[in-house]
Amino acid sequence: MTELRPADTVADGVGHLWFIHGHHAFGLHATNAIGTCATVADITRMFGDLKLVYRPTTRDQLDGVACIRCGRTDTPMVPAGSGPRGQLFTCSPTCPTP
Ligand SMILES: [Zn+2]
Repeated sequence: MTELRPADTVADGVGHLWFIHGHHAFGLHATNAIGTCATVADITRMFGDLKLVYRPTTRDQLDGVACIRCGRTDTPMVPAGSGPRGQLFTCSPTCPTP
């Protein structure tokens, strides 16, 4: 499996989507759409291996300028955890993952 990074969106073995956040040094966590948060290890144990669905890659996304899901820059943003280069944002809590 691809090594997970903060800001990745992944699917577990039964199809739940999870947003990866945190820092490797302190253990990566994941939160789902209804706000459940657990460690990556716990989710893997309960629901099976996690598969990468989407990873933000543009400089604007990783610098917190653009939405990490859709890439928009022209709308108010809400915090969405920390990535490798600092605070990340989405344009809304329900912005669809591409
Ligand atoms: Zn968006």
